[in-house]
Amino acid sequence: MLQQTQVATVTPYYDRFLKQFKDLKTLAEASSQKVLKAWEGLGYYARARNLHRAAGIVLKEHGDAIPSHWDEFRRLPGVGDYIAAAVLSLAFGKPYPVVDGNVKRVLARLLAIKEPVNKASSAKKFRELADPLLDEKIPGTFNQAMMELGAVVCKPRQPLCNGCPVRKFCSAYQADTVLNYPVKLKKPASPQYRIAVGVVFKKDRVLITRRKPSGLLGGLWEFPGGKIEKGEGPEAACIREIKEETNLVIQVDWQLSRVRHAYTHFKIVMDVFCCSFVSGRVRLKGPVDHRWIHIDQVDDFPFPKANHKFFDELRKYALK
Ligand code: SF4
Repeated sequence: MLQQTQVATVTPYYDRFLKQFKDLKTLAEASSQKVLKAWEGLGYYARARNLHRAAGIVLKEHGDAIPSHWDEFRRLPGVGDYIAAAVLSLAFGKPYPVVDGNVKRVLARLLAIKEPVNKASSAKKFRELADPLLDEKIPGTFNQAMMELGAVVCKPRQPLCNGCPVRKFCSAYQADTVLNYPVKLKKPASPQYRIAVGVVFKKDRVLITRRKPSGLLGGLWEFPGGKIEKGEGPEAACIREIKEETNLVIQVDWQLSRVRHAYTHFKIVMDVFCCSFVSGRVRLKGPVDHRWIHIDQVDDFPFPKANHKFFDELRKYALK
C-alpha cells in the first residue's frame, strides 16, 4: 500500500484491510471484487490485484508461510527488488538494502552523487551504493533508519542538517551544496485528455460496466464512456463510445457534472451526462461485464476515484 502513497493516506486503509482479511488464507480465498472494494480510492489497483494473486500462490505453494528466500519471494506477482528487499530485511533479517525515494535522496547528498534519481537505471546504481553501508547484523533496523532519516531529517526542500546524525560524513553538507542534490531529470508535462461518460438510465436502473482485469484501473466498475476524439463534441463522443463499448443506442439528456482528475502520468477532464436507454441489447467490446443497478447499489462495487467525484450529484438527482 505504501508504494507511491503516503503513510497518512494508507493508515485507515491498512487497518480496515487487516480487519477484513485477517490472514493470508482469508485474502487468498476472497473474491477479486471484495479485494478491490477494500482498496477503492487508494489508486494503483495493480497492487491490490497482485497482492491477491500472491496470497493465492503462497497459500498453494507454501502453505501459509511467506517464503523467505530471495528467488521465491521475488517471483511473486507485484514483488520487485524494492518490496523484496524491504520485506526480507524487515521481516526476516536478510541482508538486502532498501532503496526508496527517501533513501536515494540521503545517499545522493551523503556521497554527492550526480546520477539523476528519477532515471530508470538509477535504482541499480543506488543499491550498489547502499550495499557496502548496510549493517548486516541488523539490516531491517538499518533500512528503517535510512528511510526515516530521509523522511524526517534529510527532507527534500528543507533538510534539518544541524540536527542530522550523519552530517560529519555528509559530502554535500561539508561542501555546502546540499540543495544541489538529488539531481533530477525534468519530467515532460503530463498530457490532458477529454473524456465523456454516460449514466444510462433504463427505468430506475443505470448501466455500469467492468474494466478488463489488467491495466489501468483493471477490474474496477465504471460508467461507460471514453476519450473525446479531435473535432468531436462531448455528447457525440458519449453516444459513440457507449455504442462501441456496449452496443446500446442511447440519447444524451443533460450534463450532470464536469470532473477533473489527475493520474500519475496524465490528467483528465470528464464530462458526465445523464442519458436514456433507447434500444439495443448489451454486447460488450472492451469491458468484461455489466450490470443494471439501482443508484443506491453503487457502494457495493469498486469504482475509480474519478467516478466517485460525481456520485453525490448523481445520488441527489436520482434519489430525489
Ligand atoms: Fe541530509 Fe543534511 Fe544529513 Fe546530509 S547532513 S544527510 S544533507 S540532512
